[in-house]
Amino acid sequence: MNGIDLRSDTVTRPTPEMRRAMYDAEVADGGLEGDPTTKKLEELAAERLGTEAALLVASGSMGNLVAALAHCAPGDAMIVGERSHMAWSADQGKGHSTYGRIGVRRLPENPDGKLGIEDIGLSMAAESEGESRVALVNMENTHNQSDGTPIDPAWTASFAEGVHDRGAVLHIDGARLFNAAVALDVPASALVADADSATFCLSKGLACPIGGIVAGSSDYIAEVHNRRKIVGGEMRQTGVISAAGIVALNSMVDRMADDHANARRLAEGLAQISGISIEPERVTTNILYFKLSDRTPEEVEQSLAEEGVHCFALDGRIRMVTHHHITPEDIETALGAVQRVMQSDAGAAHA
Ligand SMILES: *Cc1c(COP(=O)(O)O)cnc(C)c1O
Repeated sequence: MNGIDLRSDTVTRPTPEMRRAMYDAEVADGGLEGDPTTKKLEELAAERLGTEAALLVASGSMGNLVAALAHCAPGDAMIVGERSHMAWSADQGKGHSTYGRIGVRRLPENPDGKLGIEDIGLSMAAESEGESRVALVNMENTHNQSDGTPIDPAWTASFAEGVHDRGAVLHIDGARLFNAAVALDVPASALVADADSATFCLSKGLACPIGGIVAGSSDYIAEVHNRRKIVGGEMRQTGVISAAGIVALNSMVDRMADDHANARRLAEGLAQISGISIEPERVTTNILYFKLSDRTPEEVEQSLAEEGVHCFALDGRIRMVTHHHITPEDIETALGAVQRVMQSDAGAAHA
């Protein structure tokens, strides 16, 4: 797509360095002797997350699915935030209940994306009334729909303690875990230290073409590997993908600070435009949402697309996401386009 593409960080294309690494990658059959480049990526990912082991998966969604399948027995339940990606996946019939007969209980998050441990306790107490056992609690970091808010290690530690005290395990859907690490200036390992498993996406802000990682203990990852086979995820010469992942973990993490600065600048500019409501100080990673007072998000999405600025209208708001291909100049250009669209919309409204 031409123009300035703020729809998602999934639109990022592999860098020249990644393409060279992919070309040169040493590969072998991942289902037979194992792929050497993928082994290297998995070791590097485990090291970055401070876990014993890690496993390449085809996508973040596959990662969250096989992670839950390995934690839960059929008939168990898991808790998700109602505004989380995993709740959305479940609503689309993509996964947990379909493949694992895992019940999905949705609890409301706070505006910052955090779940309340008391709500979880109440939901789990329902077990005594004959409901299924809650084996797993999932949290999202960064929390996509909550302005991409990063969730800090101290809160995660106390939350994990509450989850463990109640006899469940904690999984972190860290599709954008490295954005959280960069925004909070902590190692990614600190964000997952108290969890039982975590996933992250290689194909979002890290700019790889394909892939995700599930991380955890060696025994657990062996279980996840079995579940990956069951869903058809025993890929073969995966070194081609993994080579890009190694480049990403070595060279695409620190630069995310630029994406965060661009998102904040965009939010500050948007806040100056009449008809737009946004709190720029809430924008600390690469995702922002804003509301419109007079126009529908769908109309504005369409008008902006005609100006060459692409974004998504999502549940009553507009979402914009910065990433590797978005420059500070693009931010100023995008702001100019939003200004023009909002002015002409205001004119149309009065006509
Ligand atoms: C994108 C996303 C996923 C799914 O990742 P895919 O690689 O697109 O399957 C999961 N969780 C969150 C929070 C996401 O934003």
